[in-house]
Amino acid sequence: MGCSHREVNDRNPRYDGLALLPVDDQQQRMFDEGLEFEDEVFLELARLHKVSSMRLSDDPEAATLQAMARGDKVIIGASLPIVDHRGGRPDVLVRHGDAPMSNGKWAYLPVDVKNSKPLEGDSKAKVWMVGAIDAPWLDDATATDLGNGKAKTDHSLQLAHYWLILRDLGHAPTIDPIGATIASDKRVVWRLLDDGKNSFIAEAQAAWDERWAAIDAMRNGEERHTRPVYRDECKKCRWHDVCESELIAEGHVSLVSGVGVIQVRKLAEGGIETIPQLAALDPVNVDANPVPKYAALGANIDAARVYLRDDGRPYFKRGAAGFVVPRADIEIDFDIENDDIVYMYGLHVSERIDEHTWTDGEYLSFHTYDRSDAAAEGRLLAGFWGWLHATVAGAHAAGRTVAVYCYSGGFAEIPRMKEASARNAHVAGVPSVDEIGALPSHDWWVDMHEIAKQLHWPSRTLGLKALAPMSGFAWDADDASGANSIIWYRAACDPTNPDRGVMGAKLLRYNADDVLATRDLRRWLHDGVHGRGWNLESVETLTG
Ligand code: SF4
Repeated sequence: MGCSHREVNDRNPRYDGLALLPVDDQQQRMFDEGLEFEDEVFLELARLHKVSSMRLSDDPEAATLQAMARGDKVIIGASLPIVDHRGGRPDVLVRHGDAPMSNGKWAYLPVDVKNSKPLEGDSKAKVWMVGAIDAPWLDDATATDLGNGKAKTDHSLQLAHYWLILRDLGHAPTIDPIGATIASDKRVVWRLLDDGKNSFIAEAQAAWDERWAAIDAMRNGEERHTRPVYRDECKKCRWHDVCESELIAEGHVSLVSGVGVIQVRKLAEGGIETIPQLAALDPVNVDANPVPKYAALGANIDAARVYLRDDGRPYFKRGAAGFVVPRADIEIDFDIENDDIVYMYGLHVSERIDEHTWTDGEYLSFHTYDRSDAAAEGRLLAGFWGWLHATVAGAHAAGRTVAVYCYSGGFAEIPRMKEASARNAHVAGVPSVDEIGALPSHDWWVDMHEIAKQLHWPSRTLGLKALAPMSGFAWDADDASGANSIIWYRAACDPTNPDRGVMGAKLLRYNADDVLATRDLRRWLHDGVHGRGWNLESVETLTG
């Protein structure tokens, strides 16, 4: 459901006509692909169940209510009326049961079409009720192991929202709240919306109540209930520029790295709302500050001091000792690119010349833009894995040290490579999921994001794109971003696209720049630690 301030802004007449942040190419591509997938599923459901989408009707809401009154077994493109301010358009409603309920109404369950995997993360595998779109009813689902992961929270909250509308309309059955998604593999995956421990129903209800209280307050000209707080969600929000300028104008604490929604709430309890106020607190005797104590308070105060100093360099954390940027005789910087498959492994190899100097090195890649070759992803992974391990073994055999550097490998490279392994386990030379999971246990594996986290940075995030420019690095492409790389990849793979060669070359340059950014960042930090060109100092040198 996301940020409640957005809901208030969306309804604030003060902003009528204001130009908001446009949808970027990546978001547009995702919307378009989502709609395309939805159309495909709707057509298949219509063919299988001899129904047509309510959205084709002149009055989708009335058509949906009529279909529910008739007890249609599958209703696609549903549109539910607004009850208690709450309205919604579940993609599909499936009938539950073979007779109307005691109130005389048919029971329905909400199903949403999602062009994504049904699960996310690495949670322990459990059994899910899974069905097929030719029989999308809960009673036809069977217990199925879908591997590791949990149901996506935002999908569960959306289904909970639809359940609440069905309940208010008298069409929810008297069973534990449940809903399903039709995922990209077109399986119907059911999840409980209240399992006794976690209740998405309660969460959706609480969020709804809070939002409507805030909207009412705004409409009645009362003191506002919501305010902008900078968070990940803001980067892609249409209100970004409006909220960001308000936050910058007031110097709000949420602009400081590590200060999120929870910390903002705690600080506000002590009357601390601006960065100078936060920086002026005592980072050592945190109990002496007029705010409720929380674990990261001291670190937040120091981060505010670094933010205000704004001299384009990081600082050691308070009391830090033994900060090391690992170096080796052979240094390999590494990054992957992926869309629905991992299509590129990029590496930059440099070698030690003397104590403080390394060669410029060279870039190499394992990549493919040929989507007609089903085994290509597996062969790439096998090729990269063989090269990496042969290089490490060769260095060790020659008595040389080696280090392999990634940036956020635990969130990016390792999970994506595990997925590639699972998809291609039959291809010769593909490492197992466990072998990939063991990468961080090697003494030659270095995640530079983990090292960056040991410092305070004058930036809002610790992403490579935010930190590497401080070392002087610049990406070749002005529009370099993970999101745009997917658009370039689609073009590079399209045999009918006259620009495919240019896009393929652009991707290689983009990947090479990513690994060079990691290289330059770590070399610069290493220089700072050893006082070559600049000194990495402690935050203890800064005062509030
Ligand atoms: S920019 Fe951030 S704070 Fe503002 S409405 Fe969007 S998500 Fe909320």
